[in-house]
Amino acid sequence: MTQVLLATRNGKKLAELRRILGDQVTVLGLADVPEFPEEPETGATFEENAVAKAAQAAAATGEISLADDSGLAVDALNGMPGVLSARWAGKHGDDPANNALLLAQLGDVPEERRGAAFVCALALAVPGAEPVVRRGEWRGRIVREAFGGNGFGYDPLFVPAESDLAGDGRTSAQLDPAEKDVLSHRGLALAVMLPDLRLALGLG
Ligand code: IMP
Repeated sequence: MTQVLLATRNGKKLAELRRILGDQVTVLGLADVPEFPEEPETGATFEENAVAKAAQAAAATGEISLADDSGLAVDALNGMPGVLSARWAGKHGDDPANNALLLAQLGDVPEERRGAAFVCALALAVPGAEPVVRRGEWRGRIVREAFGGNGFGYDPLFVPAESDLAGDGRTSAQLDPAEKDVLSHRGLALAVMLPDLRLALGLG
């Protein structure tokens, strides 16, 4: 059976890739393979981090491996928090603290300068070959208070451009997971990578 390792322990990311690849491909997560030492993410760019993670997973397991690195790039902060998104307030993965700090930093920033993008770099590593990397970006703006209970991270503060076009101004935490998948930076990077992945897996 054809299989691919997605170098993550995030169940939502695994489910998304399984939905997209269907039942032709078995999608493994890090919990399904023997443990190997995982290097800290120290790259200056999303691409560097994604390539390092995918290459490390492929070398350690011998599996065709995918890895992503993502974050929020805020225009008024010159692209930050960027690769530091998960630990912007100091502690890795503390979403409420990260969101509170971002809101405080943007307190005096007027509506017309509150643009931002979620960014995802997705890397594919086939054992013995050079990794390839693809990028997805999702434009939007940062609101002044949190709305919505879906998603994670900065979702309650991010109104995608599509919500403004539709006139409802919903944050990405107010979208259904399936609505978010088709618009998001991660969904886009995956869609752009799909031909490379199908080729690597021998699916034509
Ligand atoms: P990771 O690449 O999954 O480790 O995500 C890095 C960080 O970027 C997360 O902890 C979030 O703070 C932020 N982030 C990445 N993607 C999203 C998203 O789709 N919604 C909200 N926050 C995100």
